[in-house]
Amino acid sequence: MCGIVGYVGKETAAPILVDGLRRLEYRGYDSAGVAGFNVTRLHVVKSTGRLQNLEKALQQSPVTGSIGIAHTRWATHGAPTHANAHPHTDCAGTIAVVHNGIIENYLELRVWLTERGHTFRSETDSEVLAHLMEEFAARTHGKSLRNSNGRHKLLRNLAISTPAASASTSTGAALQTAVSPPTMAATMLLSALRQALSCVEGAYAIVVLHQADHDTLIAARKDSPLIIGLGEGENYIASDIPAIVGRTKRVIILEDGDIAIVRRDGVELQDLEGAPVERKVITVDWDPGQAEKGGYDHFMLKEIHEQPTALRAALAGRIHKDENGMLSVKLEQVLSPQKVKSFKRVVFTAAGTAFHAGLLGVQWIERWTDLPVQAEVASEFRYREPRIGTDTLAIVVSQSGETADTLAAMREAARRGAATIAITNVVGSSVAREADAVIYTQAGPEIAVASTKAYTTQLAVSALLALYMGAVRGAITHQRVNEVLQSLSRITATLEQAILEVETQMRDVAVEWGRVTDVFYIGRGLDYAVAMEGQLKLKEISYIHAEALAAGELKHGTLALITEGIP
Ligand code: GLU
Repeated sequence: MCGIVGYVGKETAAPILVDGLRRLEYRGYDSAGVAGFNVTRLHVVKSTGRLQNLEKALQQSPVTGSIGIAHTRWATHGAPTHANAHPHTDCAGTIAVVHNGIIENYLELRVWLTERGHTFRSETDSEVLAHLMEEFAARTHGKSLRNSNGRHKLLRNLAISTPAASASTSTGAALQTAVSPPTMAATMLLSALRQALSCVEGAYAIVVLHQADHDTLIAARKDSPLIIGLGEGENYIASDIPAIVGRTKRVIILEDGDIAIVRRDGVELQDLEGAPVERKVITVDWDPGQAEKGGYDHFMLKEIHEQPTALRAALAGRIHKDENGMLSVKLEQVLSPQKVKSFKRVVFTAAGTAFHAGLLGVQWIERWTDLPVQAEVASEFRYREPRIGTDTLAIVVSQSGETADTLAAMREAARRGAATIAITNVVGSSVAREADAVIYTQAGPEIAVASTKAYTTQLAVSALLALYMGAVRGAITHQRVNEVLQSLSRITATLEQAILEVETQMRDVAVEWGRVTDVFYIGRGLDYAVAMEGQLKLKEISYIHAEALAAGELKHGTLALITEGIP
């Protein structure tokens, strides 16, 4: 989930948009793009790689108007290519959209839209948004890309609400006084957006621009952050406050279900049904450095707090609920049931934190499937003589997908005939490209060197994989799968609470124990695997020597080192 910037005002939009993206650059991204106007024409410019590439592309093909939207992408669906970069447009090229998040039911929508005559240019989940709006806008005008005989089956299933057009244009909560009446295009777009949103499942922060309206941006959010920056005769939209620091201090933080109609002379907020909503205007006095870290002192702290969101994204679209409310894991598209049944053993291979995630993965595979399984440190694996072959599944875990030892271990496993599956956070990374199959953790970019949210999402994905394999092989009952998934679905709320509580406790622990030179982490079973990760984290972050021990091992020698004052 990367960067979004929108601007409508009196200055040329492109430099402000690119500057905003630059301020979000620390989040990491793989491609970028801008949509605005070149005279009257809606004009999209994109590039892969760094923002300099986008600037060069803009020099050659300028966006000159004073309204526009921009995006830095962190791919979740489709490789980091020019075609997959945002903004995405509809078939006619009149609607441009940028999106952060994941549209979980995009495949279903894509099939439906294709049947209706829409042509897709990218592999992203996001592009369905532009075509859905095009489809609904056309319906409002009594025409469609392809005339249908009655409503399509999917449309009925999707239970589309069609709010009265008047509701969308009436008295929104005016935050600034002089809000001019909306144009026809804005009214139509707003209604189309609402209908589109009623079809989509998943997380989104969206900003939309229409060819026929040079004064309006429409934004919406659900489970992905979006803020509005208020200026004088100009207004901003961004996925995070740093993008607008230095341009305005007055900010509205949108909430889930909010739609914002942002124009030069004002901002209106509505809910999904068109009823006005009011949000507080807050004053942000951050310096740019603080702003980058979202107000936290360190990236690591910020990423610890991002864990609930990251976990939500990691589980998104991977849990299926049947008509009786029973949950099951949906990974057929990654690993076919037939393939799962063919395995006789499993090996995890990874390095550092990812290896510790593998240690937990091993315990879940053991518990929930009937397969023998082991975890091997990647840098050792390739120098050994592992007895693996065509009956083996090698699960390779790497946040970046570029860890050299892990990549080498994966190649060794493949050379010996094993099927390889990558668990990684980076779409299109080396392990993702080379593995037979890949499950993305969808944690969003991790800046801190010590891994936090990448680790927790690796755990979530490993647990899903183990449950899926166990269910396919008949080693675990549907009832038990349902129980585990029910608690996994509740974990984000629990985690939010836990982080807040633990954070205060940790200050006291740090004051009390911060000066010790050695720490022992002791655990059994799953806790032993967690202890392994705990000791690594302490070493990396505090430079205090730490060791993890299986509880039962403590008495066999190491106890000699445990003296008074050693935690
Ligand atoms: N899911 C979208 C994509 O892969 C948006 C990614 C993002 O949030 O940057 O294009």
